[in-house]
Amino acid sequence: MPVERFLAAAAGVVGNDHVIGDPAGLAPFARLMLPVPEEEHAPVGVVSPRTVEEVQALLRLAGEHKVPLWPTSTGRNFGYGTSAAATKGQVVLDLRRMNRILDVDPVLCTALVEPGVTYKQLQDHLRAEKLPLWIDFPAPGPLVSPIGNTLERGGGLTPYGDHFANSCGYEVVLADGTVLRTGMGGVKNTTSWQAFRYGYGPFLDGIFTQSNFGVVTKMGLWLMPAPETHRTGMAVWPEWGDMAKLIDAMRPLRLDGTIGNFGVLFDSTLALTASMKRADLYAGPGAVPLDLSIKTAKSKGLGAWHYLYTVYGRADRVAADWKAIERAVVASGGTVIPDVPDPMSVGELTLQAFSLLNWVGGHGLAWFSPVTPMRGADAARQMEIARAVMDRHGVDFMTGMTLNGREGLNVMPMVFDRSDAESTARHRACFDALIDAFAAAGYGFYRTGIGFMDKVAAVHGTAQIDVNRRIKRALDPGGIIAPGKSGIRI
Ligand SMILES: Cc1cc2nc3c(=O)[nH]c(=O)nc-3n(C[C@H](O)[C@H](O)[C@H](O)COP(=O)(O)OP(=O)(O)OC[C@H]3O[C@@H](n4cnc5c(N)ncnc54)[C@H](O)[C@@H]3O)c2cc1C
Repeated sequence: MPVERFLAAAAGVVGNDHVIGDPAGLAPFARLMLPVPEEEHAPVGVVSPRTVEEVQALLRLAGEHKVPLWPTSTGRNFGYGTSAAATKGQVVLDLRRMNRILDVDPVLCTALVEPGVTYKQLQDHLRAEKLPLWIDFPAPGPLVSPIGNTLERGGGLTPYGDHFANSCGYEVVLADGTVLRTGMGGVKNTTSWQAFRYGYGPFLDGIFTQSNFGVVTKMGLWLMPAPETHRTGMAVWPEWGDMAKLIDAMRPLRLDGTIGNFGVLFDSTLALTASMKRADLYAGPGAVPLDLSIKTAKSKGLGAWHYLYTVYGRADRVAADWKAIERAVVASGGTVIPDVPDPMSVGELTLQAFSLLNWVGGHGLAWFSPVTPMRGADAARQMEIARAVMDRHGVDFMTGMTLNGREGLNVMPMVFDRSDAESTARHRACFDALIDAFAAAGYGFYRTGIGFMDKVAAVHGTAQIDVNRRIKRALDPGGIIAPGKSGIRI
């Protein structure tokens, strides 16, 4: 069997202790939260290198044995695929042992890390060195990695919340073992690899995100100088129908920088997940009724829509921006709850978002993540489309949308009991129907999970599929790196 021969050869590179081929050892790498069958994505092995040279050797061996490798950094892509691959039969290239913080520059506020470094490890380092620098985290920050998250173009909530936009300089191992340093990284004795993203000639970093063109073994990221002061508020609007006017009121404040961060806009049901379980709210048929959700939220001092935002900087600026935002919120029919704690927007690690998983229990989670043009009418239309499809499938509507000036990432969690086959199948059907409904209305996607990658790639058009395939064939003609990722194959 090619896989067994590959794993035996891989053990010669990384050592027996860092190769897994037995079913018990593989089980944790196959575990999914998504509503798709684990057997359609199950890995057949795991190899864990420690160095770039070992990654090169493993890619060469994978090419010889024609065994596909699925790279993961910390492998905690919860709700998008965790460690599992787009297709079954791949060997997970688990990069957690490559976990060195290679550089932190307190002058230019940059870091250079390996794939296994977690956000917590980096923050502990900054604190130990007493550096006044903030890191932007995704919600599972303590557990996950800057490289894994950035390669998915994931995000957090501070002004540095667009992680790809704040990454700078990659080291990538290609399928033939070539080591490429992007941006300024090719200059001998480079002095500016983490300072200037674009380098000279085509800007290549983007093609290594949400793709399968190489294995990223180092990445630079930018750190935010701790601001002099900051203040977080939560704007609350009472009615479902307030969506269009609240978006039109907040957009100008994001566009002109008054609201500096990627604040999150969330609905009544997502708000309730922080303090209650579904069973305590509703035991009837179908999805949680909207009026019950909003009524219950109001009884807790909340509303139909909530927007957590933070202002940063010198005290006089924070005070002036705070007032301008409050005026706009009130003019659009909302109220402001001042000084709400929001650890993520002020660079503090937290796992509080995981309360979402207690809503029904059973560890089912799928993020449905369309992009919203930041017009009130579009945001309202997306909410109506999503709720109609979800109601039809008996799925609870929730969203946590990050607001940018021109676009919002309308990240809708679908939570369900994965041990309940009927509910799992219903959530899968709902996810498929949502893709169809959003595509029919002209909306595309920021990211998606394994099991839905081909379908989402098709929404983005055959020319993109074709060009990605041509790049894949040029860089990885044997198709050994992560076949199926984002719908890309040779
Ligand atoms: C409650 C909850 C809240 C969440 N909130 C957020 C959030 O706020 N923001 C957010 O972005 N996500 C969020 N997530 C989703 C997810 O857990 C994070 O995005 C997480 O950072 C991804 O896991 P990871 O960092 O371990 O990446 P990995 O799983 O290691 O990598 C993700 C994918 O990137 C590719 N990849 C990884 N490393 C490499 C490499 N070195 N070379 C080539 N390709 C590679 C692979 O395709 C891999 O499958 C949330 C999940 C949960 C459960």
